[in-house]
Amino acid sequence: MEQDREIIFLKPQLKDVVWGGSKLRDEFGYEGAGGSTGECWGISAHPNGDDEIINGRFKGMSLSALYREHREVFGGIAAEEFPLLVKIIDAKQDLSIQVHPDDKYVKEHENCPYGKTECWYVMDCPPNAELVIGHNARTREELADMIHEGRYEELIKNVPVRKGDFLQITPGTVHAIKGGFTILETQQSSDITYRVYDYGRLVNGKERPLHVQQSIDVITVPDRAGEEALSHTDGLPENTMNKLISCDHYTVWKLQVTDEAVTEQKYPFLLASVLDGSGSVDGVSVKKGDHFILPAGYGRAVFAGRMELILSTV
Ligand code: ZN
Repeated sequence: MEQDREIIFLKPQLKDVVWGGSKLRDEFGYEGAGGSTGECWGISAHPNGDDEIINGRFKGMSLSALYREHREVFGGIAAEEFPLLVKIIDAKQDLSIQVHPDDKYVKEHENCPYGKTECWYVMDCPPNAELVIGHNARTREELADMIHEGRYEELIKNVPVRKGDFLQITPGTVHAIKGGFTILETQQSSDITYRVYDYGRLVNGKERPLHVQQSIDVITVPDRAGEEALSHTDGLPENTMNKLISCDHYTVWKLQVTDEAVTEQKYPFLLASVLDGSGSVDGVSVKKGDHFILPAGYGRAVFAGRMELILSTV
């Protein structure tokens, strides 16, 4: 069917934040981005940033409405809300040290459907960079003591990271993105974050609130992130979809196109973000910063040009 071959493009929702920079404006050219735009919600149906469809027969609809009214586009999946959220994060300064709850905790405490499992593809970072991943407390009592006594430098683990690395952040993992990182984040469609520590920074003259009790409740003890979180993606073959992770919530691939890549869209839907370069998908031009969806039933897809993409599905 002709209509099943229509690629759905989205207009990202942008977020100005205290730690944001100007890259989303200067490098990605997003309309409306400024000097402290930290997040581009490239594929989102979340109520805090619901993207608009900008082409084709669904033009002008929000992604949440499309998901509600045309579930066939998404293979008729049963999830009550569109399950994934894809962001580009440009951190000029350090983000707070944080942790996310799982589905069970948010249903009980936050009255929303999804916890937050997320994963990061490192698009750019400074040489010899580190991210905060994991912690050193051996018991929940020790964790509570370290947090109450403000011994954060002792608590957190720093992990060396380089451009092209991939990290899976499960709920309960203490984590923080540092200044200088640009990251493509694929996550469950959730906006629930518990702030563990904010480096004592003042925002508009006061410290942002910390979620001390929630953090102590949900942080995984003892920490398991160290051995599980990080993988390198250099040396992966070009012009083919390379699976980076498959978990209960999503599957994510990297695709480096240097010539032509023939793939099969056989999933309920396939989300795609162009991180660098330009090219085409079945003759439709795409470029750095574009986010789009190949709907259910799309079938064979030919990616051509020179570009780097991250793709995902449920
Ligand atoms: Zn996070």
